[in-house]
Amino acid sequence: PPLYIQRYEFVIDFVKENKPKKVVDLGCNDCTLLRKLKFHKEIELLAGLDIDCAVIRAKMYELAPIPTDYLQPGDHPLTIELYQGSVTERDPRTKGFDLVTSIELIEHLQLEDVDRFTEVVFGYMAPVAAIISTPNADFNPLLPGLTGFRHYDHKFEWTKVEFQTWALKVCKEFGYVVAFTGVGQIPAQEESIGFCSQIGVFQIDRSGGDAPRLQNNVAEEHLPYRVLYNVVY
Ligand code: SAM
Repeated sequence: PPLYIQRYEFVIDFVKENKPKKVVDLGCNDCTLLRKLKFHKEIELLAGLDIDCAVIRAKMYELAPIPTDYLQPGDHPLTIELYQGSVTERDPRTKGFDLVTSIELIEHLQLEDVDRFTEVVFGYMAPVAAIISTPNADFNPLLPGLTGFRHYDHKFEWTKVEFQTWALKVCKEFGYVVAFTGVGQIPAQEESIGFCSQIGVFQIDRSGGDAPRLQNNVAEEHLPYRVLYNVVY
């Protein structure tokens, strides 16, 4: 299957195995991943955030319940919430999630906004787990005809070492552990290059016991994200 489908499948496999109850997809675009996730009955709250309200709106009504949602209901209602907003801003409605996904998003941010994203996701939202994917620049020479970045809107593309350096700093600063993997395999003789899309799977580090998480006390009534869609079924 195409690479973007492989990335979604990676998330879905993680969900099947880890059964998160609350999942938020950052940079959800036209909600393709959310439409796949809504069939996973353990999920109770499914949220999506994108800065571009037109792309969210394009297909968001396809998240509405379909007959089988009523004929084969889960054990609990499913709430779906879609927001317009930026991952560089803190909104209390994104705190306390079991899983945050950020698939091919960070490379669209300026580097100073990656720093904000890092603080917002790991310092403020503080999910139990996070899946972050981004292109692997080391793989680019294997892509025929590619000059420059893979997409005109990319602000950077990190090598494996650059991605891993960022990720390990995240772990140290915010108390996570990370596993590196990816999708888009390479010919065996070029294994050291890594995957076409590199993925970091972050989990809260509980090895030191359940230390109190860093909590910030900014006025929680500030809700910068705009609700575009909300359904409970
Ligand atoms: N995650 C989807 C996927 O894997 O198919 C879409 C990836 S698309 C390449 C990147 C998305 O990030 C776009 O929908 C874009 O509007 C969104 N985006 C870019 N900057 C953002 C920001 N600061 N906050 C939230 N979303 C942002």
